[in-house]
Amino acid sequence: MTFDLHGRTRRLELADQGLRSFEAVVLEATPDGIVLDRSAFYPGGGGQPPDHGVLLWQGVETRIEGVRKGDDLHLVPAADDPIPPAGTLVRAAVADERRSALMRTHSGLHVLCGVVFRDYGALVTGGNMEPMTARMDFNLPEVPPGFKEAIEDACNAEIAADRRIDVRVLPRAEAFAIPDIIRTATNLVPEEIPEVRIVDIVGLDTQADGGTHVASTKQIGRIKVAKIESKGRGFRRLRITISD
Ligand SMILES: [Zn+2]
Repeated sequence: MTFDLHGRTRRLELADQGLRSFEAVVLEATPDGIVLDRSAFYPGGGGQPPDHGVLLWQGVETRIEGVRKGDDLHLVPAADDPIPPAGTLVRAAVADERRSALMRTHSGLHVLCGVVFRDYGALVTGGNMEPMTARMDFNLPEVPPGFKEAIEDACNAEIAADRRIDVRVLPRAEAFAIPDIIRTATNLVPEEIPEVRIVDIVGLDTQADGGTHVASTKQIGRIKVAKIESKGRGFRRLRITISD
């Protein structure tokens, strides 16, 4: 398997989305970034922002405030925190509240995406999220009367149905044989990537996706469609919030 390697770092969160603590060895460290041999910090991508957390080593603590993606994954330490030298064994913890909120929000966006595609045939053109709040843009020329309420009700019905959310990794050809696998208007998976990670809300929405998700839709909570904005030329921006 190569899909879970980024530079020299093995990404543990792709196969185990519930993992919040792990041990790792520092490969390289500067005040600009710390490279570990293995990490469960989500580095950011697909609209999901990076994790926060902490590294514990030799009785001191390095707070992690983000991740910078280059040839390697660089965990970004808080300014003035001590930096573990290369070779140090660290215990790491991912900030659970933020990550768990982002998982609920990310899965909520996939429910929204699945419902809007199923009921209105609209494709996603962009999106972004923060813990418990998100926006998604759709190629949707017409907004029928009652659209906001209809979308919200349909999303919450899918949550109540408690659909399973499965993650699997497939060879590229097999992945793209799944109908409608790319719900975004353009194919964002680069040619040279041999394996594709699939996030499947069983019976609703199947997407190529590198993010972290809850295990079933009930764990999302409730979706509220807060606002629908027109972005011109047939594009609509839906803002949602997630609550218990
Ligand atoms: Zn996603």
